[in-house]
Amino acid sequence: MSADGCLFCAILRGDIPADVVHRADGFLAFRDITPKAPVHVLVIPERHVASLDEVGGLTADERSAMLVFIAEVARREGLVDDGYRVTTNHGPNALQSVFHLHWHVMGGATLSHSM
Ligand code: AMP
Repeated sequence: MSADGCLFCAILRGDIPADVVHRADGFLAFRDITPKAPVHVLVIPERHVASLDEVGGLTADERSAMLVFIAEVARREGLVDDGYRVTTNHGPNALQSVFHLHWHVMGGATLSHSM
């Protein structure tokens, strides 16, 4: 799916409200609307790419900054000492439901192996 009609692009524009926890350097972090962990934050690049399969659509600088941003969000959420999980879903077998690359940052409790 292109940026047209993309839910997360609408959040980036401010057209749809979100509980934003951090925004910097071309990335946004906001709380998942149906959290699967006590802390469940989504990290997205401002530039629309549909999933990790299209990560080549980001520059090399954006790709490396994205990892730094994810780690910064986890640190800001107080997840470093007890630990956290970062996942991304691509395609139907992974049950991807929003087609704008996003990273689930989850923690705040011991996570299930099945999450
Ligand atoms: P995925 O299934 O990996 O594509 O993840 C999409 C995630 O987006 C799900 O965990 C949803 O709960 C979350 N989500 C959907 N709509 C919103 C929204 N408006 N604000 C925050 N999170 C959302």
